[in-house]
Amino acid sequence: MSRNLLDVLIIGSGPAGLSAAVYAKRANLSILVAEKDYMGTGQIAETDQVDNYLGLPKINGYDLGEAFRNHAEELGVEFFDGMADGFSKEEDVWSVHFADGQTIRARAVIYSAGAAHRRLGIDGEEDYIGKGVSYCAVCDGAFYRGKDAAVIGGGDTALGDALYLSDLCDKVYLVHRREEFRGSPSNVQRLKEKDNVEIITSAVPARISGEQTVTALELKDGRSLPVSGTFVAVGMQPQTESLRGIVELDDTGYIAAGEDCVTSAAGFFAAGDVRTKALRQIVTAVSDGANAAVSAAEYLKRLKHE
Ligand code: NAP
Repeated sequence: MSRNLLDVLIIGSGPAGLSAAVYAKRANLSILVAEKDYMGTGQIAETDQVDNYLGLPKINGYDLGEAFRNHAEELGVEFFDGMADGFSKEEDVWSVHFADGQTIRARAVIYSAGAAHRRLGIDGEEDYIGKGVSYCAVCDGAFYRGKDAAVIGGGDTALGDALYLSDLCDKVYLVHRREEFRGSPSNVQRLKEKDNVEIITSAVPARISGEQTVTALELKDGRSLPVSGTFVAVGMQPQTESLRGIVELDDTGYIAAGEDCVTSAAGFFAAGDVRTKALRQIVTAVSDGANAAVSAAEYLKRLKHE
């Protein structure tokens, strides 16, 4: 299907992409949101309980994501299924190439594809994915009801996952490589109050072992934790592989851009977790979406008058 030249193509339908869509649509721009395998508004759907989004305490992550999406849909935002994997530009028009061979043209691109789960890189991890190794407690936790599980990591994701699993599992080990946690102290306190949670700090995972499925998480100090499930929550990696040579990335692979979401490439804007920033939260992603849409609208206005 051939499409008309768009004002803005938004890549990614997480909080940043949807916020950008709402702002761009309200600015009367012609837009489309491209998303790969929609499963509920990106990473946010993997959070059981979001307790720090202003005005909506204790909301379920999936429900918050659906509310964002409904808002965009009510304004008439259209979605397109596709994995963007190539970018080129000719005479102020971006061509975005998709894995299925389609190309969509737009005067501006807002890239808000977020980040993917980082792998731990230890023995057994790859072998047992789907057989006891998971990256999403909210998605897979129910499989471990009444069993023992380990969560690896010390950020908010790991703390939230351990809390979530403590209501399902017999016992939960939270394994963190340092003494101090990166995640919020209130979650650490809640975990300490749980009878079935054992917090193991200064512990580095060495190997995930098992037979058909996982039976143990082995630590470098020689300890072996008898678990059926290992939940890896060691941070995220930005989805920027296809942007190398197109737009400036920082040392860790995030897109270099300030609060205005303007990147090194004219007409290409970065919003959400994929952008260099100090605080990656839903509220900062939503804020980025608004800033990116406004920056894109200003850019399009300048193009018209050139
Ligand atoms: P994160 O904050 O980057 O934390 C990653 C954790 O994994 C760190 O504790 C890190 O240890 C550990 N780690 C990294 N590589 C490791 C390795 N090879 N072996 C062992 N441990 C390793 O990532 P996140 O928890 O996914 O959170 C990402 C962002 O989303 C954060 O800004 C977070 O606040 C936010 N978030 C918010 C909520 C919420 O508000 N409800 C929920 C989830 C996430 P070190 O600490 O030693 O580096």
